[in-house]
Amino acid sequence: MENVVIIGSGCAGLTAAIYTARANLSPLLLTGSTPGGLLTTTSIVENFPGFPEGIDGTELMMRMQQQAEKFGAKVRYGSVVEKAEITGSPIRLTVDGELVETKTLIIASGAGHKHLDVPGEHELEKRGVTYCATCDGALPMFRNQPLVVVGGGDSACEEANYLTRFASQVYLVHRRDTLRASKIMAERTLANPKIKPVWDSVVTEVQDVAAGKVTGVKLKNLKTGAESVLPCAGLFVAIGHYPNSQLFKGQLDLDDAGYFVLKRGAATSVPGVFVAGDCADSVYRQAITAAGMGCAAAIEAERYLAGLCG
Ligand code: NAP
Repeated sequence: MENVVIIGSGCAGLTAAIYTARANLSPLLLTGSTPGGLLTTTSIVENFPGFPEGIDGTELMMRMQQQAEKFGAKVRYGSVVEKAEITGSPIRLTVDGELVETKTLIIASGAGHKHLDVPGEHELEKRGVTYCATCDGALPMFRNQPLVVVGGGDSACEEANYLTRFASQVYLVHRRDTLRASKIMAERTLANPKIKPVWDSVVTEVQDVAAGKVTGVKLKNLKTGAESVLPCAGLFVAIGHYPNSQLFKGQLDLDDAGYFVLKRGAATSVPGVFVAGDCADSVYRQAITAAGMGCAAAIEAERYLAGLCG
C-alpha cells in the first residue's frame, strides 16, 4: 500500500513529489506518456524564478526529478492509469494492468495540445502537421521552407520565433488582429523580420492529403470572408490546451471545459484526493503556479495522512 501516488510528472507532480518525499512518505510518481510534462516540449524557460539566464525546459524537469528522487520519490516511467476507484479506502488504481493501492492520490495530469479539427489536420499529423516546434522544427522537411504557426498566445509566439532558425519564412496565423501573448513576447515576435503575421484569419483545411504531406493551408479571413491558399511545408498548431481529466469524469467535479473544480486549496470533494497544476488551472497555467499548486497538494496530503494516523 502506497502513502501517496502522484499522477503526472510536470511541474506540479514533481513538486508534489519533492515535498511528499521530504516528508518521508516515499511517494510513487507515475510519469504518464510524456515524462516531464509539457515543459519538455518548450525551448527556453525565461520566467522560472532563480534562472536569470533562462533554463531549457527539459533540463528544468530533469533537475526537479533528481531532487524528488534524492529524497526518496519512486518514479515509474511511461505508466498509464487505466482505471481509478477513488471513493473507497484505499484508493485503487489500475496502472498498466496492475492494481496499485494508495492512501492518498495527487492528480497532476496536466493538459494536452488542442487541435484545430479541420480537414487534413488529423490525416497529415506527423507528416507536416505538428503541435511542438521544439520537438519537430529541426526536421529536414521543414528546413528552408515556409511554415505556418496558428495561434496568438505565448506558445504560438514562442514556436514562431523558434522556427525562424530553420524556416525560410514563418507565417503567424491568428484569428484576431491583436496577440494574446505577453507584451515582451508579442513585441519580440512582431519585430522578427522572418515572421509575417496573418491577422483575422483561420485555417480551414490542410493540404494535401492525397500527396501525403503538407503543401499548404486554406485560409479564411474572418472580417472579409475572403478565402486563399498559403503554400507551406509545415503547420504548427499552438492554440492552447485541454485538461487531462477524462479518467475522473463523473467521480470528481469538472467545469464545462473539463478542468477540475477544487473545494479548498488543492482538495477535491473526495477525502484523500488532491489536484494540482494545469489540469485544474484555466487561468494562470505557468510553470511556477503549477509548482505552487503541487506544493499545496503535497502539504494537504501530508496533513490528511497525519490526521488518518492520529
Ligand atoms: P493561450 O494563451 O490560451 O492562447 C491560445 C491562442 O490560440 C489564442 O491566441 C487563441 O485566440 C488561439 N485559439 C484558440 N482556439 C483557436 C482555434 N480553434 N482556432 C484558432 N485560434 C485559436 O494558450 P498558450 O499560448 O498555449 O498559453 C497557455 C499558457 O501558457 C498561457 O498562460 C501562457 O502565458 C503560458 N505560456 C507561457 C510561456 C512563457 O512564458 N515562456 C510560453 C508558452 C505558454 P484568441 O486570442 O482569439 O483567444
